[in-house]
Amino acid sequence: TKLIKPRIRKTLSRELPGELVEMLPKHWVQIGDVLILPLRQELEPYKHRIAEVYAQVIGVKTVLRKGRIGGEFRETNYEVLYGSDTVTVHIENGIRYKLDVAKVMFSPANVKERVRMARVARPGELVVDMFAGIGHLSLPMAVHGKARVIAIEKSPYTFQFLVENIELNRVQDRMTAYNIDNRDFPGENVADRILMGYVVTTHEFIPKALSIAKDEAIIHYHNTVPERLMPEEPFRTFQEIAREYGYETEKLNELVIKRYAPGVWHVVVDVRVFKR
Ligand code: SAM
Repeated sequence: TKLIKPRIRKTLSRELPGELVEMLPKHWVQIGDVLILPLRQELEPYKHRIAEVYAQVIGVKTVLRKGRIGGEFRETNYEVLYGSDTVTVHIENGIRYKLDVAKVMFSPANVKERVRMARVARPGELVVDMFAGIGHLSLPMAVHGKARVIAIEKSPYTFQFLVENIELNRVQDRMTAYNIDNRDFPGENVADRILMGYVVTTHEFIPKALSIAKDEAIIHYHNTVPERLMPEEPFRTFQEIAREYGYETEKLNELVIKRYAPGVWHVVVDVRVFKR
């Protein structure tokens, strides 16, 4: 990989003005055989040629331009710069994740959390993943942790990949998927463990999580937090809402996952909840 950047530079320095060569991306993300390239605006006129050279040197079928992730479904909507097939299978920690990289988010920064979830899961326990995506966090729990998983995903497009991934990883016997809004999930008092892998508005879903949880359960609560409110948040808000609904809470662990925006962090807290 050390030779990749010099080779890309060498090829493109014959075709681009010198100052633009200096702006070529030095970092990128590869998911399966799809590349996500952050490109500065100045490189716009050359974007297709640049993508072609990166694809050939690195050896991927498709190159996307990194953009914003947004909306309720956390969609990527990345522009295709080179190639056409944006669906790929990414293998990480022994798990096969099939996804459409141009539409569905898969954050390399969350890898530690995906690996951690494989370790915290207990054989036979019931995990409810309220924001399953393609099974980012819950596939490792079913595959490595041998947990039983109910995975809920609202986006019909993302849901198709979740269903395929359950089969690809051969955990149909332990993992069930629902294409619904998690607020419409009918189960009450069933989960030993709950995954709340969402950002920005996750606190709005705490009452629903508590109703799905058994009288004693563990909740992995993710949210985005302005730095000036840390370290009290996000646990303080969780605790306040849980008290309103008759639950005591104990903070077991807290981790920063990644920077979400300037001065804002994506944090996960592991909380044990007990019904009073
Ligand atoms: N939990 C994974 C992780 O942390 O890597 C995937 C997170 S992804 C950002 C969140 C997923 O939740 C998206 O696929 C989105 O469509 C889904 N989602 C958002 N609101 C939902 C809701 N009310 N019910 C079920 N799924 C929802």
